[in-house]
Amino acid sequence: MEAVVYVVVSVVAVAVAVVVILLVSRRGARVETDPGGVETRATGLGARLRVVFSSLDSDTWTRLEDALLAADVGPAPTSRIIERVRSQSPKTAQEARALLSDAVRAEFADTDRGLNLWGEPSVIVVVGVNGSGKTTTVAKLAHHLVQQGKSVLLAAADTYRAAGSEQLDVWGQRIGVPVVTGQEGGDAAAVVYDALESARARSIDVVIVDTAGRLHDNKNLMEELKKVHRVAGGEGGVGEVLLVLDATAGQNGLAQVREFGSAVPVSGVALAKMDGSARGGIVVAVESTLGVPVKLVGTGETISALDPFDPSAFVASLLAE
Ligand code: GDP
Repeated sequence: MEAVVYVVVSVVAVAVAVVVILLVSRRGARVETDPGGVETRATGLGARLRVVFSSLDSDTWTRLEDALLAADVGPAPTSRIIERVRSQSPKTAQEARALLSDAVRAEFADTDRGLNLWGEPSVIVVVGVNGSGKTTTVAKLAHHLVQQGKSVLLAAADTYRAAGSEQLDVWGQRIGVPVVTGQEGGDAAAVVYDALESARARSIDVVIVDTAGRLHDNKNLMEELKKVHRVAGGEGGVGEVLLVLDATAGQNGLAQVREFGSAVPVSGVALAKMDGSARGGIVVAVESTLGVPVKLVGTGETISALDPFDPSAFVASLLAE
């Protein structure tokens, strides 16, 4: 009797294990991150494009337009991409796909996407609207630089929200880097000044400045950012002004951030929450609409979920089988 119970329990245990393994492996297969650092294969732009070119017929161009717009590529880049492919009269679906790869790649500038780090210390000013993922990106960037052997100091120049400084403080402790904060409602530029003094005294390599992003107070915000940028530049100028953009905000997000470009010289875009964007095409829209290179993509909430953006890898992944 005991032997029968033993056999039954063993069979049930093996069956449960098999079911768990199958469930876990199916889960793993659903999320694929491509070498461009952006999930495009399962639900995003890549998946839509593969359906478009399942055949080449009179409806292909409408299907392509729908797919690009639905993936957030934006109206102007969509028209340009279709025109580039169509004008070369592809004869087969395969030929059309190859031309499409080239057309999407042509939307990205051939430019150095590394961060501009110069000066002692180098200064990175991070701007963007509240909720875009700014503070998290500052923390991820600090972690990334520390991994590369650099010493980093964070400046909590969003004095408008006490929660913002506290959040940065917590990240600083976790990463093991100093954080300079100011009084709530105090002068943001004064925090930057103190941060630079402190960084020089400690021979810190890079200062990353987290700024305010209160959109409802736009005019004062832009004046404040100009002042922060001026003070952060010191004698050598600011190396990098990184604009953080929420990838899930779509075309509306783009309209909001143009203002930042007129206040401070944005030199790169960090596209946060690409893991939550089922569209992926926003990366094309950002670069061609704002005329600023996408340098980094945020792919999750964890500290290491920040990847350099590589346009060639991104395009290759779009149409990979
Ligand atoms: P801030 O107001 O612009 O400073 O935004 P936060 O850094 O506080 O981020 C707002 C929310 O977005 C937080 O819940 C973050 O965890 C989340 N977030 C930031 N970056 C990413 C990302 O790349 N992926 C995901 N999934 N969430 C992110």
